[in-house]
Parts: sequence; C-alpha cells; structure tokens
Amino acid sequence: MTLSATPPRLFGIRPVLWLLLLTALGAALNSLPAGFESQGLVAFGFAPAVCIALAGRLRYLLPALVIISLPLVWRAAPLLDVLGLIGLPILVSLFCFRKPVFSQLRTGMGLWSLLLIPMLLVQYYLQFPGQPVTMVTAIMVTWLSGAFAFLLGHFLYIGFHLYLPHEPSERLPGIRTQTLFSYFFAGTFFMTLLLVIYFYVGAFQAQLMGRLTQYMDQRTLVLSQQLDTFLSAHHDAIVATAANLSTAYQLGEPLAGPFSQQALASLANNKPQYLTFLVAEENGAIVLAYPQKLLEKARQAGVVNVSGRGYFQQPMATGMPFVSDAFMGQGFGNDPIVAQSAPILDSTGKPVGIVEGSLSMDAFADFNEQNMPGFYLLIEDSQQNVVFAASALNLALLSRHNPAPCGKGCAQRVIVSNKEWVARRAEIESVPWKVSLYYDYARFEGIISNYLLIALGVLMLLALVGVAVGTMVAKLVDTPLRRLIRDIAAFHPGQPVAAAQEKVHAVQLSEIAALEEEFKGLQLRLNQAFQALDDAGQEQQRLNTQLGVLNESLEARIEEKTHSLQAALRSAEDASVAKTQFLATMSHEIRTPMNGIIGTCENLLSEQLDQPVAYRVGVIAQSANNLLLILNSILDWSKIEAGKMTVEQQTLSPRTVIEACCQLHRQSATRKGLHFELQLDDSLPVGIVSDGGKISQIVNNLLSNAIKFTDSGSISLTASYESEVLRISVTDTGIGIPQTKQQAVFGHFEQADASTTRLYGGTGLGLAITRGLVELMHGAVHLQSEEGRGTTFTVTLPCKEAELTMSGDADKHSVLPEGTTVLVVEDNDINAEIVLDMLRSEDVRCVRTSNGQQALDALERNHFDVILMDCQMPVMDGFAAAQAIRQRGDTRAGVPIIALTANAFSEDQQACLAAGMNSHLSKPVTKVRLFNTIARFINGNTDV
Ligand code: ATP
Ligand code: MG
Repeated sequence: MTLSATPPRLFGIRPVLWLLLLTALGAALNSLPAGFESQGLVAFGFAPAVCIALAGRLRYLLPALVIISLPLVWRAAPLLDVLGLIGLPILVSLFCFRKPVFSQLRTGMGLWSLLLIPMLLVQYYLQFPGQPVTMVTAIMVTWLSGAFAFLLGHFLYIGFHLYLPHEPSERLPGIRTQTLFSYFFAGTFFMTLLLVIYFYVGAFQAQLMGRLTQYMDQRTLVLSQQLDTFLSAHHDAIVATAANLSTAYQLGEPLAGPFSQQALASLANNKPQYLTFLVAEENGAIVLAYPQKLLEKARQAGVVNVSGRGYFQQPMATGMPFVSDAFMGQGFGNDPIVAQSAPILDSTGKPVGIVEGSLSMDAFADFNEQNMPGFYLLIEDSQQNVVFAASALNLALLSRHNPAPCGKGCAQRVIVSNKEWVARRAEIESVPWKVSLYYDYARFEGIISNYLLIALGVLMLLALVGVAVGTMVAKLVDTPLRRLIRDIAAFHPGQPVAAAQEKVHAVQLSEIAALEEEFKGLQLRLNQAFQALDDAGQEQQRLNTQLGVLNESLEARIEEKTHSLQAALRSAEDASVAKTQFLATMSHEIRTPMNGIIGTCENLLSEQLDQPVAYRVGVIAQSANNLLLILNSILDWSKIEAGKMTVEQQTLSPRTVIEACCQLHRQSATRKGLHFELQLDDSLPVGIVSDGGKISQIVNNLLSNAIKFTDSGSISLTASYESEVLRISVTDTGIGIPQTKQQAVFGHFEQADASTTRLYGGTGLGLAITRGLVELMHGAVHLQSEEGRGTTFTVTLPCKEAELTMSGDADKHSVLPEGTTVLVVEDNDINAEIVLDMLRSEDVRCVRTSNGQQALDALERNHFDVILMDCQMPVMDGFAAAQAIRQRGDTRAGVPIIALTANAFSEDQQACLAAGMNSHLSKPVTKVRLFNTIARFINGNTDV
C-alpha cells in the first residue's frame, strides 16, 4: 500500500481514511493503562505508526506520530522512552521503505535497537544507580514495546498487501518459505506471549500490591494498639503518681516533700522512657523536678513556672489527665517531647498542682525496629507534626508532615522526601495521634522487577523457541519444495531419473510427499516417452539414411536417364533440324525447276498451239501441278510436325471458298461418272474470319479422297454454320474404311490398305495434314464409314461471322497502270524468263539483273515502281540488297520490294520482311498472284 502515488482502495476504503484509522488506533492503544508497574514504557500504539511508515512517506507519518504519541504525554510516560519509541517508525520510514520484507525487519529493528538501548542504558543508569535488575527490566520493557509495535505493524503491512490490488512494480519481493514461517511463527508466538506475560505480570503485580497493603494495614493496626498500650501505661503511671501525691497532700505532706521526691524517683525507675518529671503547685511554680539538677538548670534559665503550658492548664482546669502534642522541651532539656500530666487533688477534689512526665520521642524507635526491613514507622500528632519518623523517611521531628500524592497511575502511593512510598495509616485510640507504616516502593519495584525479568527472559527464550519451531515447520515444507524445484530444474527427459541421494525426513507433509511422488512418476513417464521418441527418432534416422541412399541411387539413375534422354532429345532435335533443313532445301531445289516447268507450260498454253501439242503441254502442266501438290503436302506436313504452320485470320466468303474447291473437283467426279452434289445451307454467313487457304486445303483433301475412293455413286458436300461453328461434311458412296482402320487413317503415311497405293496412288499424308490443320484452327474432324458402303468426313471449325467487302473475280489478275516499270532480280535464267514473259505479256516494262549488286546499280540509274527480288543469289543475295536499298538516303529507298523465292517456310517470309522487303511470293508463282501482288503496291495498298 503506497500512500504516495494514486494508491488503490483497500476493502473499498480510501488510503487517506486508512491513514486516519491507523492513527486513531495508535492513539487509542497508547491511551490504554500500562497494565503493570515498571520503569520502562509499555505502549502498543506504535504498531499502526510502523505500518504507516512502511507504506507511506515521512510527510504522512509525522503528523500521525504526533497524534499517536499525545496520550503518552498525558500518561506522563518517561520522556526518553517516548522519544525512543517515536524514533522507531521514523527509522523504518527512512530506511525500510520499499525494501524486501526481511530486510525491513533486520534494518528497522536492528538500527532502532542499536540507538535505543544505549540511550536508555545511560538514562536508567543515572536514574537507578545500584539497581541493575530494575534498569535491565525497564530497558527490556521499552524495547519489547517497540518490538511488539514493529512486528504488529509489519504484519499489518504485509496483511494489507495480501488484499491490496497492486501494480507489478508495487509487488513485494518474494519471501522464502523458511523465512516466512520462522518469522511469522516466531512473531505471532512472541506477540501472543508478550500480551499474556504483560497481563499476567499486571495481575501478579496487583496481587502482590494487595498483599503488601493488606499486610501493612494489619501491621499499622498492631502498631497503633501497641502505641496505645505504651502511651496508656505511661499515662497511667503519671496518673497513679498524681493520685499518690494527692493522698499524701491530703495527709499534710508538702508537694515538694520527701514523699513526692520518692514517688518521682520510683516513677523514673519504672518508666525509663520519660526524660524528666516535674511537680508544679497551684500557681504553676515548679516545686519539684526529676532529676533534681534539672530544677537548678531551669531556675538558671528562669523557667520555673509552667502555668502557661497546656500540660498544666488543662489538668488544672478540667481536673483530668492530659497528653500534649509533641513540642520542643524548654528549661528541662531542649529535646522534642510529649508531655503527660495529671492533677494533684485536695480532699475536695480541687486541683492543687500537677505531676508531669516528659516522654522522649526516642521511646518509639523500639517500635520502628520491630518492623520488617523496608517498612518504616511514622507517628504524627493531631497537628500532623512528626512525633516519630524512621530515619529512612528522612523527616525532621516536629516538622509538619504533608505527604504529596503520587500522581497518575500510582494509587496507594505517596511521595515523601522525593521518594515513592506505599503508605498505610491508623489512629491511636487513646490520643489523637496517627500511626503510619511506609514501604519503600523502589523495594517493591525491585521485587516485581525480578519477576518481570524472569518473565521477559522466558518470553525471549520462547520467542527463540518460536523461531526454531517456525524454522523446523518451514523446513518440513521448504526442504521438499526446494528439493522438488531442484529436481524439476535438473530434470531432463533424456537422462535417467537419479536415485535420491539425500536423507528424507521421517516426518513428511503428505501433500508435498504426494507431489514429490507424482513428480517422480511424471519423470519416469516422460523418460519412457522420451525413450520411445528417441527410439522412433533413431528408427526414423535409419529409414532416412536408407531413403537417402535410395534417393541418391534414384537421383543418380534419374540423372543418368535424364542425360541419356537429353542426348536422345538433342539427337532427335538435330535430326528434326536436319530433316527440316533437308525438306526446305529439297522444296527449294524442286520448286525452282517446277517453277520453270509450270511457268513454261502456262506460257505455252497461252499461245496458239496445235491441238496435240496443246494436249501434251497440258499433260505436262497437270503432272507438274500434281508433283507440286505432293511437294506441298510434304511441306505442309513437315510444317505441321515442326509446329511452324501458322493460321491467318482473314475475312472470307465460306460459300466462295467451298464453291471454288467444288469447281475444281466436280470435273474429276464427273469424269469418273459420279454424281456430285453441293448443299450450302442458308445458315452460312456471307463472311467469316478464318484462314481461307487452309479451309480450301481441308476441303480439297476430303473431296479428292472421296472421289479417289469412290467408283460409283455420288459425292456430296454439305456446309452449314451454327453457334459460330462452320460445319463441312463430305460424303461418298465409295469403298469405305474398315472399322479397325478408322483411327489409323489419320496417321501420316497411313493408308487403310497396303494395296491402296497400288490401286489409288497417294502418299497417305492427306488426312494427317487435314487433321493437323483442323486442330490448328481449334476444330475437329469426325469419320463415319462403313466398308463397301461409303464414308462421311465431318469437319467443324470455330470461326466468327464478319462483314465481307471483297469483290471482283479471283481468277482475274489485276491490270497494272501503263508505264509500270519493274526490276526483276533473279539469277536463274529460266525463272527470270518466266516472270519476264508474264510481265511483258501485259506490256509491263522490265529490267532484269542477276544479283543484288547489279540491282543496286540499276536502281542508281533508273526509277522502278516495283522490285521483284530473288533471295538466294551469287555476289549479293536478296536480303543484303533489300537492306542496302532501304539505307539509301533518297526517295528510291522506299521502292516496294517483293520477294520472289522458292523458300516457302514462314521463317523465310519473316527474314524477307526483316530485311526490309514489303511482301513475299513463293515459287512457283502464278500470273494472277504476281499481278495482284504488284498491283497492291503500285495502287498504294501496302498490306502484306
Ligand atoms: P494422299 O492423300 O497423300 O494422296 P491417300 O489419299 O492415300 O494419299 P489419305 O488421304 O491420307 O491418303 O488417306 C489415307 C487413307 O484413308 C487412304 O489411303 C484410304 O485408304 C483411306 N481413305 C481416305 N478417304 C477415304 C474415302 N473417302 N473412302 C475410302 N477410303 C478413304
Ligand atoms: Mg488423299
């Protein structure tokens, strides 16, 4: 609980209220009576002050301390002791604030004891010289008050922390079980015993005091009776002597005669406590004295008449005996005396004189001596003058005795001669005197201090026993707990449980013993589990090792395989490259002469020839075209195989494309006597976006097959369009394909029957190319056939509908503007001639060069509208020439260049475009394609 920084409430009570409550509690405890008599300070009210000191700052403690100490001032407690006890909470506040619990005890109590004990030693040494027991007891009492206050305050402080909501920073440091037990056990034991002892000592003291006063009452009574007897006996002796003298006087004896002398001598003899006697006559004149020399002394002193004295006047007046108060003797001696007198009567009973005896005060000393040691006698007369006082009382005789009351908390005690006494008083019956018995309180205190010392000694011893018992009990809990902590800290599941080395106490706490047993069991189970885990781990490791070996060999084998596969792939790729290269070369090499044959045939046929010659030229042209078709097939297939076949997206009329194909094959069909039927569905759109060339190729393949493999019956083609799919079916009534061969016929170089080539010719590539092209266009081809009855091939091609703006006749070539000048760059004379013939037939002006360099030179000299450029030429090839032309700085650099080459692959096209050429025409070229292409550039249409 900290009062300094926005402290929390405890049991719903605000800290400031706690401060007030604790202060009030302290003040109340300090207001309680001490409980027993001692010279030390018994005060329990500093416990709350210690609690405040531990919890808060000095500024809260000091005002509380003032209030708590006030009742002690009112109780008139010894100042130094009060200051000493006030010092305790102040030291605690200065040195113990926020310290660990046990260090608070050490520092607080240790420091305070070191300061307090020497201070009190000095004080009590001066106050009680020669009374070591009283001194030690007094110091012990004050010290124990402080110890009690500290323990209670400390316990309160710790108790508050049990219930106080606190921040982690305000948490008390951890306390060891052993410390806690021994401290709290011993502390509680100590406080309880202290309270018991305090109450017991208080009761014992009261009892002792009761017995003392009882004894003193009795003794005082006895003394008063003895004194009464003593005084009466003496008085009676005086009265008897007076009676004797009265009788003698009545018989005529003179008052100062020998009888009287005889009587006084006898009295003096019987009552030696009398100092003097005298006989005075009616007028007060002393007529006789004893001892006789005293009369002479009195006469010399001029005191021979006692008529003024009370002891004369009273008996003379009343005729009764008289006892005076104490007074100083005159004439007969200057000692303090008490006068006892009796009248001498004549025969009529009238006083004629007196007999007086002066009783010495020393006479009472015998009574005092009969008292037990420590008890002192005091006799006062009616005027409270000291008649007799024991020398210990230190009172002057005849002085006025006026004892001061003792003050608070010391009933039945008086202060006489600056000392405290227990005093009892009684009246003496025969005289108006009082007899008192005094008992030195210091003596009483000495006795009770002995008891107190023993009791407090026992208390300290028991507190030590408490510590020992607490430690022992704590050990019962602490030792096994610490053992458990150590075992838990040292426990490793992989290590076997070590057998307990140390001795286990015979006395054990069952719960903790059970906890230890449970932990041992847990250890064992964990060990077993760990062992099992370890075994599993080892097994796993073994398996891993095996797996590793397996993996390694597998990896090695995979690597080996990969290497061999890579080598195979490389050789396959090499083979593929070689094949492609071979095909390209072959294609080029074959196309060049084919170009010559076909071109020449075409040129010949356009001339007026004789019928037989024209027929033969026609056969040559047909054969050459067939050969070209085969060549194209091989080239197509190899392109498809190599993945180099590209699909163009152009707007075309499906109707026109299909009709053109049918046109081609109708004649062949008719020639074979087959009925040819074309059914174009109305669903066919005017235009679609697709590759017209490839559609033609597909339809041509299917139709050529249908016609080829049908000997009688009909061929029909149906085309429709639905859901953006173009559907073309070719049906024949031919030989059909056996079920078992239907899948195989799509393979390359596959034919349904070995006799097919012999019977029908062909390479067996048609359907393979068809399927390759259809798949390239994301379509599908289906076959339905029955052997001997006919076959239906259905092709579906996805394609979008488009608007068609194409017009004109495809078979007619474009007409070039008059004066068009073309540069033909061609190394092969035949090919050059064919092209030149085609151009000149339409009156196009031509210049021919044989290589690139010549072409550049020609361009220097002339303007050309178009250049037809062969690619592979000596001196400078077409690519270099095209690049050189494009690098010219003048307007001629922009002249359209059309590649005219036997290189038909798409890479060749790409290479031409990359070299700066505008378009590409593959050989052999037809007049229509040649003129149409040239026209596109001359007319400003530069689309490739
Ligand atoms: P190529 O087409 O190369 O000239 P080809 O026609 O023999 O030769 P494909 O077109 O691929 O080769 O046809 C493969 C085989 O499928 C043919 O040889 C033939 O046996 C069979 N075939 C194809 N179309 C038909 C058909 N309409 N009727 C019967 N058999 C056919
Ligand atoms: Mg075919």
